[in-house]
Amino acid sequence: MLNAPHNSIFQSTESPREDDRLQHSSPWRIYGVGAAFCLAAMAVLGRVTWLQAQLNDDYLATLETTTTEYEIIPARDGRILTATTVLATDVDRYDLQLNYRWIEEPVNERWLDRKLRNRLTRAERNDEQLVARIRDEIIQSRQRVHQAICDAAGISLEELTLRCTEIQTRVERVAEFVNRRHAGRDDSRDLFKEDEGILMRLASTVRSALTTPPRRGTLSRIVVREEEAFHTVVDDVTLVVAAAVSEHPERFSGARSLVRTVRTYPQRDLAAHVVGARTLLKDDELQPERPSDGRLAGNPVVRRGRFGVELTYEDQISGTHGLRKIVRDRRKRVVSDEVVRPPVSGRDIVLTINTALQQLCEASLRESLADAPLKHLLPAQDQASRQESRPVPVGGSIVVMEAATGRILAAASGPGFDLSLFTGASAAEWDVVNNDRRRPFIPRFTGMALPPGSTFKTLTAIAALESGTITPDSKTFCQGYLTRPSEHRCLIFRLYGASHGQMNVETALSQSCNVFFFDAARRMGMRTLSEWTERLQFGHPTGVDLPFEKSGTVPKAPGAVVQTSTGIQSRFEREAPGLAIGQSRLTVTPLQMARLMAAVANGGWLVTPHIVSNEGIARVASEKPVAAANATRMRVTGLHQHTLDAIRAGLKATVQSPRGTGYRDVRTGDVQIAGKTGTAETAPGKPDHAWFAGYLPADDPQIVIVVVLEHGGSGSHAAGPVAREVSREIARQIL
Ligand SMILES: [Zn+2]
Repeated sequence: MLNAPHNSIFQSTESPREDDRLQHSSPWRIYGVGAAFCLAAMAVLGRVTWLQAQLNDDYLATLETTTTEYEIIPARDGRILTATTVLATDVDRYDLQLNYRWIEEPVNERWLDRKLRNRLTRAERNDEQLVARIRDEIIQSRQRVHQAICDAAGISLEELTLRCTEIQTRVERVAEFVNRRHAGRDDSRDLFKEDEGILMRLASTVRSALTTPPRRGTLSRIVVREEEAFHTVVDDVTLVVAAAVSEHPERFSGARSLVRTVRTYPQRDLAAHVVGARTLLKDDELQPERPSDGRLAGNPVVRRGRFGVELTYEDQISGTHGLRKIVRDRRKRVVSDEVVRPPVSGRDIVLTINTALQQLCEASLRESLADAPLKHLLPAQDQASRQESRPVPVGGSIVVMEAATGRILAAASGPGFDLSLFTGASAAEWDVVNNDRRRPFIPRFTGMALPPGSTFKTLTAIAALESGTITPDSKTFCQGYLTRPSEHRCLIFRLYGASHGQMNVETALSQSCNVFFFDAARRMGMRTLSEWTERLQFGHPTGVDLPFEKSGTVPKAPGAVVQTSTGIQSRFEREAPGLAIGQSRLTVTPLQMARLMAAVANGGWLVTPHIVSNEGIARVASEKPVAAANATRMRVTGLHQHTLDAIRAGLKATVQSPRGTGYRDVRTGDVQIAGKTGTAETAPGKPDHAWFAGYLPADDPQIVIVVVLEHGGSGSHAAGPVAREVSREIARQIL
């Protein structure tokens, strides 16, 4: 029967019985059903194949996706030290952090569910009362942790709540932004075309059903990293508090303490211009190619030296942060945690600065600038009368340096500032310094170039002697002025109508006779004077290992083309008398003047001043090649000992001879000082710049000292007493 060659399709007129219908229709029906099965199976197979082939990358993979994060392990930066004092160092600061789920209000329901599942078995979870009780317990434990943090850190619950609210607002903003962007991308996929026919819409619905990966429900909104992270709720707690949080996880679940290093300057304003500051890297300063920044650039623990030694020795001081690689699964559970690069501490830098001497120099400057009451500078009975007539300098600088090596023992610049400005100061504190018109941030020892006045006669004397223009015994008669009483005058003529009379190089230096040097300059000519200015490297930076050094300015001879113009040539020549006494267009920094005095003191060597000790740098250099401060020195060509002897006699007489300009204000019984005073004229109506540049002891020169007071008035009266006090300290401590 079943195999009978009948087909209901062709025998449709036959009235079918139950049996017959089965018998007659079965072969074709079976084919039909089979075909339907095949189609369905093919659809399923197709779907499975598609899932395997297409979804593998963008969907299946997400089920197994792990995320890799890199976390910085902070490294300590090297310290900046003197032999006795720590000037800059990293210290640990401890912060208390809370996981976001302990911060969020109201409690996150999914997190709560997860907690419940961890605490209760499947059977227990059916007990509604039990679930409600455990729920309350979890919420209360969260509140207990808040209270425990407040008790430990000594802040009020209101304060903590306020901080938590701030954090939540921030995190919610991030989460909202990320989710909105993601939702926007999803919607764009199923744009439905309204104008399509019903068949097309049907077809596309079927295609869509077959090909669209399962959609995330509204519950599975994207969880941003901030929602799983820890956030600082209390910063800078004590080590005891931090330890308590770490050691009692049962009391502080959801909380942790975190250590970070911050740069501090324990001596605050001591040698602030020399030490400099390191501050956090800003976003626009990313330099991924720098090994210390690398992929970590922009992370708040990366710091950069901004000025001073912190900048010059940046590469040595900077520690290299370590790197921790954390892999998490899609539920943010940590799968692996390894240190891929251990942190390497930065190197200590030892300065050549003598702490006590630096302190005295800074105190003297504060007194000179009227930022502190007079204590070191003048004998008590003389204070009132001097103070009245004395102009208050705008700024000042003192340099003390070893003559033979260029080691800087003190480099003071006033007014100063407190380095703690850079470690967290209020806007008001910044305003005070920024609004100080004397510009406290300038490191005046290298960053201030002023006309040197009569201290420059030291160089003029060298040039005149070495060029044969004069001999140590040559005499010039001073009538108070060179040719006309209206110009090229001596100070005593300008002030008192007096003159110096017969002068040789020694007396001309010690009594600071302008006429003697005008005459010498006129005879030797500008070219010789310029040549010696160049030989002693004025107009060039000294190469000190401090940033932002100024080179000063020197009058330059006109070039070959311009030399044909007699007008310009003679104007250049006319500068000779001015240059001879340290005026005209000449400006020099205190450190350049210290180097000139060192050359006189050490027998004719130009030293490279440096602020970082050779030992410290040698130690660094042996391990890692660096452009370290070099202690190299250069012989000044054509400078002879007999010339230096004549100069030294003049500089000694300046302080030691009763007619010397430094006799009254610089001389001390403690040590014989030699040097030159300078009173450099400035703009009309403004007080002169006061200079003293010299060395000690006079007969066995070892230490150079330069004092400059910007618009301080008389070199001997204003700068002299400062030089004397500093010299006495040098004699006590060093000689
Ligand atoms: Zn004179």
